[in-house]
Amino acid sequence: MIKRFISRLLGSTARAPRKSRLQRIPASEHGLPRERISPCALKVTETLQQHGHAAFIVGGAVRDLLLDKTPKDFDVVTDATPEQIRALFRRAHIIGRRFRLVHVLCGNETVEVSTFRASAAGEQGEGAHVTDDTGRIVRDNVFGTQESDAERRDFTVNALYYDPGKEEIWDYRGGVQDIRNKVLRIIGDAGTRYREDPVRMLRAARFAAKLDFHIDETARAPMPELAELLANVPPSRLFDEMLKLMLSGHALRAVHQLRAEGLHYGVLPMLDKLLGDETGSRFLTAALHNTDLRIQAGKPVSPAFLFAALLWHEVLERQRAHLDAGENEMPALFAAMEEVLDKQREALAIPRRLDGTIKEIWSLQPRFAQRTGGRAWRLLAHPRFRAGYDFLLLRAESGEAAQDLADWWTQFQSADDALRANLIAGLAPAAAPRRRRRRKPSANRPVESPPAHD
Ligand code: ATP
Ligand code: MG
Repeated sequence: MIKRFISRLLGSTARAPRKSRLQRIPASEHGLPRERISPCALKVTETLQQHGHAAFIVGGAVRDLLLDKTPKDFDVVTDATPEQIRALFRRAHIIGRRFRLVHVLCGNETVEVSTFRASAAGEQGEGAHVTDDTGRIVRDNVFGTQESDAERRDFTVNALYYDPGKEEIWDYRGGVQDIRNKVLRIIGDAGTRYREDPVRMLRAARFAAKLDFHIDETARAPMPELAELLANVPPSRLFDEMLKLMLSGHALRAVHQLRAEGLHYGVLPMLDKLLGDETGSRFLTAALHNTDLRIQAGKPVSPAFLFAALLWHEVLERQRAHLDAGENEMPALFAAMEEVLDKQREALAIPRRLDGTIKEIWSLQPRFAQRTGGRAWRLLAHPRFRAGYDFLLLRAESGEAAQDLADWWTQFQSADDALRANLIAGLAPAAAPRRRRRRKPSANRPVESPPAHD
C-alpha cells in the first residue's frame, strides 16, 4: 500500500514517458465523416466484429478523415490472428516478414489488416523483439493488446482507433487533441523510438509537410544526432519512404523540412549543394512544385522523372569535370550519368528498372539543341520525347537551358507538318553553313539511331 502510494507520487517524474490513458470519444464530439470510409474497410471491420473480434480502422485514415483529407488507404487492426483473419475472407492472403499481416481484397481495393502488436517498451514486448546492435527492430511479430498496439505506433495522431460500428474513436495518447493543435508528438522516448526505426524521422518530416503540422520539440531534438542511423536502414526501404515523401503532394515543403532537420545527408546528400546554388535551387523548386501540382490534380508522376530531376545537377557537375579533362560532350555525359547513379545507390536504392528511363531523359537533353535536318522530327518520334521535353521546360524555368529553345519545342510539337517545316527552316541560316561543309542535307537521309542509353 505504502509502496504503491510512493510509486504514485514518483510516478509522473520517475516513469517518463507518461503512460497512456484511454479516452473513448463519441461521434458527437469527433465528427469523423463515416460515409467517407471505403466500403471495403467497413466490410472488413463488420465481418471481424460479427465473428466476435475487436476491429478498428486505424492510423493515417482516421487522422486524415479528422482533418477532412482523403485517406491514401485504409488500415484495419484487430485482435484476430493472421490465420483467423484469412479464414474469414474469400480473397485474403498473409504477407510480410517484419510484420505479418493480411491483405483483404474487395474488387480492386486492398485493405491491410494487422493484429494488435506488443510494444517494445511494454512487458509483453520484453525480449520478444529482435533488434540489431544499434537498437533497430528487425523483427516484430509479437501480438499484444490494443493498448500496447497504440504504444508502438509512431506519433499520437497515428494512434487513433475508429470503431465504425459504434462510431467511436479510441484515443490512448491524446491524438485527437494533437490533431486540433496541429502538432506531431512522438509516442515514448524520441531517441529510443528513432533508434528502433530511424525511418520514423523521415516520416516526421513527411507528415509535418503533408499535414502542415509543427514537429513537437521533444520529437525534433534528437534528429540531428541520430540522422546518421539512416545509413543502417536497407536502401530499398529508404527508396520507398523517399518516394512516399516525393509523392505526398507536398514534396517541396518536405524536402526543405528534411534539410532543416539535417536528415538529408543519408538519403539525398546532394541537397545541400543543390539548394546552395541559385540555378540548382530554382531547378529543384520548379521540379518539386510541378510534381506537387500534378499530384494535387490527380495526375500521375513518374518516379524515374523525379529522380532524374533530383540528380540532374550532380550529373552536370560530373560532366563538367569530364569536359575539363578533354572528353567530348556525349561521352562526358554518359560517364557522368553512370557515376552519379552508382554513387546515389550507396545511400538510397533507386531500383535498376528505373535506370533506363532516367538515363534516357538525361541523354535526350543535348539532342533538344540539335534541330536541323531530320533531327527534330526524329526526336519528336522518340518514345521518351514527352518526358524529355517536360524536363527541358524545368531546365528553362531554372535558367539552365534557353527559354527560346523550350518555346521552340512547345510550338514544334503542337504544329502541323507545314508549320514544323517552317520552324526548322527558320533555324537554317545559323545551322546550315556549318552542316553543308560536312555533308549535303537531305530530307531522305537515313534515320540516325539514338545514342545507346539503356
Ligand atoms: P499515409 O498512409 O498517409 O502515408 P499512415 O500514417 O497511414 O500515413 P502507413 O505507413 O500507412 O502510414 O502506416 C499505418 C500506421 O502504422 C501509421 O499510422 C502508424 O500508426 C503505424 N506505423 C507505420 N509505420 C510505422 C513506424 N515506422 N513506426 C511505428 N508505427 C508505424
Ligand atoms: Mg496508410
